[in-house]
Amino acid sequence: MITAGPWGMTKNTVAATSVLLIEDQKSEALLLARFLKNSRGAGFSVDHATSLAEAVRTLATSEYDICLLDLGLPDGQGLDSLHRIRAVDARLPIVVLTGNDDEELGLLAIETGAQDFMAKSNVSGQLVARSLRFSMARHKKMLGIAADANTDVLTGLPNRRQLDHRFSEMQSTCDALTVALIDVDYFKKINDGHGHLVGDRVLQKLSNVIQDSLGQRAQAARFGGEEFALLIPETSAEQALDLVVDLLSKIESAPFQIENTRLNVTASAGISAVGKNEKLEDILKRTDEALYDAKRSGRNRCCVKNAI
Ligand code: GH3
Ligand code: MG
Ligand code: MG
Ligand code: MG
Repeated sequence: MITAGPWGMTKNTVAATSVLLIEDQKSEALLLARFLKNSRGAGFSVDHATSLAEAVRTLATSEYDICLLDLGLPDGQGLDSLHRIRAVDARLPIVVLTGNDDEELGLLAIETGAQDFMAKSNVSGQLVARSLRFSMARHKKMLGIAADANTDVLTGLPNRRQLDHRFSEMQSTCDALTVALIDVDYFKKINDGHGHLVGDRVLQKLSNVIQDSLGQRAQAARFGGEEFALLIPETSAEQALDLVVDLLSKIESAPFQIENTRLNVTASAGISAVGKNEKLEDILKRTDEALYDAKRSGRNRCCVKNAI
């Protein structure tokens, strides 16, 4: 059972940093907790797990700002512990504690995803607090950079790069997968008639309509320009057709109110089911042909084109 240690502390209004300390040696744990308690600033609140199994159970139900992990635990040795903690919480920054000045292991831990390492024999109060704070700051920065690289700036939706990534994940885990491309009808007219900024706002509003309409049933992404892509897992092309037709009617009836003007916005869509081991590039080509059919046959509609 995890217990909030007697060392747990919170000061005034600034929230303390919550630390999960995973350390089997009671004396070491007490020493580290004392160091953290005595550090200056907003302070640390420390929970203590004495084994990897206990830590994994705790992380399944509680969130921490950072984890301080001993690499010599009775039920987890070396980098294996790091992998197991990462598997339960991929976003948690981890600082590892190594035994007898094992610099090699510390560096390997960093290559494996730890934010920092400290040899237990060298730990001091200032050092541990500083390491935790710097690790959290670096980790936050890193997550921000990763999110930026995967997100479309205008709509906040996943971008093309993230779409590729999610496609690979879904293709390997789903029994059925369908792709849809959605393209705004006569979008150029909106830009020409109301300006590019209004066009941008239409795209932002549209991304909200798409997300609200689909919820968890599909992964939406900005494919480029005025085009959006959907990955619809565990759904056949026929089932996806119902979903997308419903989405198109929501787009058509959504109030695109820009200043005092209400714009009528419609979109067309193409749909295609993903074949086994098919490349995204090939599926997109077929889906784009279905989209082209929808445009050519009158717009504000959806066409399906499956592999022959
Ligand atoms: P269609 O019904 O055939 O799809 O006609 P369309 O006018 O929507 O298609 P077209 O490809 O001719 O024009 C798309 C326009 O979208 C051209 C481009 O300037 C504009 N566009 C692309 N990205 C953005 C963006 O981020 N913001 C704005 N405002 N316009 C964009
Ligand atoms: Mg130990
Ligand atoms: Mg287009
Ligand atoms: Mg268009």
